[in-house]
Amino acid sequence: MELEACIRTIADFPRPGILFRDITPLLGNPAAFREALDAMTAFARAADAEAIVGIESRGFLFGAPLADRLGLPFVPVRKEGKLPAARLTVEYALEYGESRLDIHQDALRRGASAFVVDDVLATGGTALAAAKLVELLGARVAGMGFLIELDGLGGRDRLAPYRVEAVLRLKEG
Ligand code: AMP
Repeated sequence: MELEACIRTIADFPRPGILFRDITPLLGNPAAFREALDAMTAFARAADAEAIVGIESRGFLFGAPLADRLGLPFVPVRKEGKLPAARLTVEYALEYGESRLDIHQDALRRGASAFVVDDVLATGGTALAAAKLVELLGARVAGMGFLIELDGLGGRDRLAPYRVEAVLRLKEG
């Protein structure tokens, strides 16, 4: 199946100048969604992870099914203030301004290896913040998996110490 045909590109959303990659056509096509999950499951299996870390919110759509398929714990990394128990926070820079991500302090045991999942890799700032949270807990990043890598934004270079895999690579612009 041509998975790329299931990604819809919307210009100037949510702000002028952004080419938004809309994954809802893929989510709405069971064969395409399954094929994407098959590929991401293979990445996580090869990384030999002990847990799947999904980044809110579209990372949950891929991370939770992966955890179920692999029989691994699912760990949510959430936007600031959503997790109820004791948590750690990392601040990171966005194109404009900054944002924060949280993880529960008891989400991963020290030394555990975690596979980080999100829908889109752009500049890599979000995934890097999630990796920092994993490492603050004393766990290790076994790898990272994305549905889409946007070429030309430097995300892969920024994540260089980590093993990064993507189902689709799309040219930015
Ligand atoms: P970044 O931190 O720059 O790698 O951005 C990654 C995060 O922002 C992911 O959680 C994506 O869901 C979202 N994102 C960034 N750029 C896009 C885009 N062009 N289309 C859709 N989502 C995007």
